[in-house]
Amino acid sequence: MIEAADQVHHTSKDSRFCNLCGEALGATYQVYEHAGSGRRLAICNACANRKVVCTSCGAPLADGHAQLSDGRPICSSCRTSAVDDVLTARRLYEQVIGVVDRELGLRVHRRPGFGLYSHGDMQRLQAALSQSPGGGGHLLGVYTKLGSQREIAVETGLPRLLMIKVIAHEYGHAWQGENCPFLTDVQLLEGFCEWVAYKVMGAVGAEAVQTRQLMAQGFYGNALRRIVALEVEGGIEAVLHTVRSP
Ligand SMILES: [Zn+2]
Ligand SMILES: [Zn+2]
Ligand SMILES: [Zn+2]
Repeated sequence: MIEAADQVHHTSKDSRFCNLCGEALGATYQVYEHAGSGRRLAICNACANRKVVCTSCGAPLADGHAQLSDGRPICSSCRTSAVDDVLTARRLYEQVIGVVDRELGLRVHRRPGFGLYSHGDMQRLQAALSQSPGGGGHLLGVYTKLGSQREIAVETGLPRLLMIKVIAHEYGHAWQGENCPFLTDVQLLEGFCEWVAYKVMGAVGAEAVQTRQLMAQGFYGNALRRIVALEVEGGIEAVLHTVRSP
């Protein structure tokens, strides 16, 4: 994600020219710090006011910018880590299945299908399911069960770590589908899936993401902290026991 743009006066740190259009920078301009790549962009005010921004980090984009497979504009930094093809995404799905088995001993016997969807399709899916996780946030992934058809649907173009996290969360729901028929406590349901994602993030070395998850304000942060407290007290067994027989 990109840090909020700062309006600055010229410093020797920056190029004298706009990093997007190449025009000379005026006395003031805007600076974007890309948290993912650490890249610093100095952008003239005209470019900063343009309407085309990166769908992932929000940075203004130059003419000829790249697009995700579903047409959304993306900056070159975000594009590097974006998972935008179904084969790569499926490999991440297999990876998550392996990690969840190894780290938590959880197996889903009827493995759900996996689909990578455009932003528009995910919006339509959200409307169809009329889900509002934690208050109507942006739906990045969902586990759906229609009759005997089970599927994990994920939005295309997510950064690699975020995609792994979203898949892990939804795989948690798939496991609950087979193992927790009596679980209706929404905080336990979602907290458990956040915890599965949290454990997977740890296993792939994404401690910074884990820290953000633990510190998160609101519904998901509270739900995760409840499960982590269970784990601290009684280990993974205590967590599984609680969600299996609430
Ligand atoms: Zn410019
Ligand atoms: Zn970006
Ligand atoms: Zn969930």
